[in-house]
Amino acid sequence: MQEIRQQFIDGAWRPSNATHGLDVIDPYRETKIATLTVGSPQDVDAAVQAARRALPAWQRLSGEARGRYLDALADGLFARRDALCRSISRNGGKPLAESQLDVDDAVACYRHYATVARQLDARQGESSNATVTGVHVRRYWDPIGVVGLITPWNFPLVTAAWKIAPALTAGCSIVFKPSEVVPLPEQAIAEIAQEIGLPPGVFNLINGDGAHAGTALTQHPGIDKLSFTGSTATGESVMRAAATGVRNVSLELGGKSAIIVTEDADLAQAAGLVLNGIVANAGQMCSATSRLLVHQALAEPLYAALSRHIEALVMGDPQDDSTTLGPLVSARQRETVGRYLAQAEHEGLRAVSGTRPRQAPGQGYFVTPRLFRDVPVDSRLWREEIFGPVLCARSFASDEEAIAVANDSDFALAASVVSGSRDRAAAIAQQLVAGTVWTNMDQVAPPSLAWGGGRKSGIGRELGQEGLAAYQELKQVMTPMP
Ligand code: NDP
Repeated sequence: MQEIRQQFIDGAWRPSNATHGLDVIDPYRETKIATLTVGSPQDVDAAVQAARRALPAWQRLSGEARGRYLDALADGLFARRDALCRSISRNGGKPLAESQLDVDDAVACYRHYATVARQLDARQGESSNATVTGVHVRRYWDPIGVVGLITPWNFPLVTAAWKIAPALTAGCSIVFKPSEVVPLPEQAIAEIAQEIGLPPGVFNLINGDGAHAGTALTQHPGIDKLSFTGSTATGESVMRAAATGVRNVSLELGGKSAIIVTEDADLAQAAGLVLNGIVANAGQMCSATSRLLVHQALAEPLYAALSRHIEALVMGDPQDDSTTLGPLVSARQRETVGRYLAQAEHEGLRAVSGTRPRQAPGQGYFVTPRLFRDVPVDSRLWREEIFGPVLCARSFASDEEAIAVANDSDFALAASVVSGSRDRAAAIAQQLVAGTVWTNMDQVAPPSLAWGGGRKSGIGRELGQEGLAAYQELKQVMTPMP
């Protein structure tokens, strides 16, 4: 069993002075696989001080040089690919094939920003396009400063990369707190930082929970910006903490995304896309398309096809190649989803029959996928983020109705449209309130494109140019024309 007693501060692993410990669990075997010492406020303070010391030299470094470190981080992750996949599957419960996607996405993200970093030098000091009579304006992009990054457990390494890579690119120094629930894969980032000789203090990692380490980080006055991914409730408390000192904040929060299927859609394609949108990572995705809106003419065949797909899922050991659906990440998460299933019973929701996947195991925090049809729009299951393999469906009679129902949500992260007509899909997509809309394709979030949403799904964007801008301050230097 692994013991993580140390925190990565100022380029080295340092013993924590904290006494509070946490168990790290394998959600398939339901056994303890590691213990973790929770970072104390003193650990957080030491990490922030180290990041502050490292900041001036790191921000002075050229984009070219920072790009080399980003490439080296990508290399380090890629070199550990197999071990990291096993670690993600063992600690997080996702099937190996999905863990491979996670590692590959993280590698791609560091690679992308390595290229972006190299392009930065040429942009610094560029003349502004705006015309100001008699004045020449140059533009510079300075790093925001020391950033506090907090990530959840559902996409380890990936959500971290979405923050760490652009922050390093911009010239920020970092204090990073991964989730206590799936902390094991994230330790590799610190190992690699040490291995590649990233200047001490540029990247610091504090293990621990939200109540102790997370709160200490968000409240530390030495942090210039907080970037948080997780639940809307915690996002609100992170935002409140950021208000003290008027500190910058980015929030990537929950979702209750809609998938709209029109009557002319290809049935097989639609069933595949709907299924992937709710069973990938056992539905524990901020972008899960957990509200299905299907045209009434296609509703019955689609429900039947989904039922067959769900029955064919193989629930089992995430480290077994044949497994297509792993357990939920924790007993707590299973309880949360269980409460929604009890609520569904209480509300009398209609489950589509025949949804029991084969090979149900006797252990692990599994939840059998559920498809509820004709779910009222005021049902809690229709409106709230469940974070499990629970799909709520309704039929619609017109595109206008589908759009109105899809947009009637507290969230606005993502959406999906499946249609036989590209033009119709595009017209629907244009009217949806969401940060990203996929039409006739699987969910992808490439590092070159912005990711994020509005309403209770968050503030700001990650990835792409916007994701870099989130870690930069624009400075304009004005000089009278000669
Ligand atoms: P949280 O939002 O509570 O946790 C996300 C991260 O924030 C973790 O690193 C957590 O630490 C940390 N954290 C928790 N409380 C604080 C705090 N007060 N100050 C600073 N950091 C804090 O999500 P949970 O893991 O508790 O999951 C709860 C629910 O959130 C899920 O059921 C799901 O609905 C939703 N969720 C949504 C996600 C999304 O991507 N939209 C991602 C994860 C969860 P630690 O875990 O170590 O305590």
